[in-house]
Amino acid sequence: MTGATLRHVDPAGLEGRSGAAEAADAAVEIAKALVRDARRVVVLTGAGVSTGSGIPDFRGPQGVWTKDPAAERLSTLRAYMDDPEVRRRAWQGRLHSPVWTAKPSPGHLALVALERQGRLDLLVTQNIDGLHQLAGNDPGRVVEIHGTMHEVVCMACGERSPAAPTLERVARGEEDPECLACGGILKSATISFGQSLVPADLARAEGAARRADLLLAAGTSLGVHPAAGIVPLALGHGVPVVIVNAEPTAFDDVADAVVHGSTTDVLPAVVGG
Ligand code: NAD
Repeated sequence: MTGATLRHVDPAGLEGRSGAAEAADAAVEIAKALVRDARRVVVLTGAGVSTGSGIPDFRGPQGVWTKDPAAERLSTLRAYMDDPEVRRRAWQGRLHSPVWTAKPSPGHLALVALERQGRLDLLVTQNIDGLHQLAGNDPGRVVEIHGTMHEVVCMACGERSPAAPTLERVARGEEDPECLACGGILKSATISFGQSLVPADLARAEGAARRADLLLAAGTSLGVHPAAGIVPLALGHGVPVVIVNAEPTAFDDVADAVVHGSTTDVLPAVVGG
């Protein structure tokens, strides 16, 4: 550990170049030093790592819910189970999702570099797009804490299967395809609001956060619980925390370094090649 921490850099107190730019550079340098000295990094990613791949987030300025607040219902379990129209809209959204053609961003590739440096213990992602694995991270080191769009699950019998054949049924005109085994409601194998996380996934993420020597949270508003709870959990165990996000998060004041910027630029700078 370097012991280097950045709690508050006051831009007004910096001379020369714009204070904000100097503060950002200082934060990147501290984040870099923390990553360089760490041997067991746990990374928590959110939708802001995939916006660089053309997949919009939910709550950012260009977010799906920011532009269309009604879209939040599509990710709510009760509405999905109760309302066939919500399911029809959700299937159309899945069919036309940018996820199917997206390529990993430089932010994803930086996290592959972190793994190749031997520093990545666990990558906990709230993303459901599979881009960390596509980028080259070992699937065995990735916990998809909110599930995956690449599979569908029957809400009645629990059968899981790859998403593609069901999406082909939607493309052929089935608006709300049923489970072929039992006739139950099918859903993307993602965790909707109001739905419990997989206990083993959460336990694995929390265990790794306690044992880490650095927690790096990137591209997440840290507003979705219980996933965001691994940040205070890590802090409570003395684990330094670095946050990289375009906008402020609820944990900026207690993190060891906060870089407000794009994951596409900042993660490669912080992790190195
Ligand atoms: P969020 O939408 O709440 O927050 C994303 C954050 O990323 C915002 O604070 C935004 O300012 C920031 N951001 C956007 N682009 C950025 C960039 N290029 N660089 C740095 N920061 C950037 O998303 P969340 O916190 O990840 O959680 C919300 C839920 O949304 C998750 O459960 C996740 O399952 C789901 N989601 C997933 C995807 C995906 O898989 N790609 C996309 C949208 C939403």
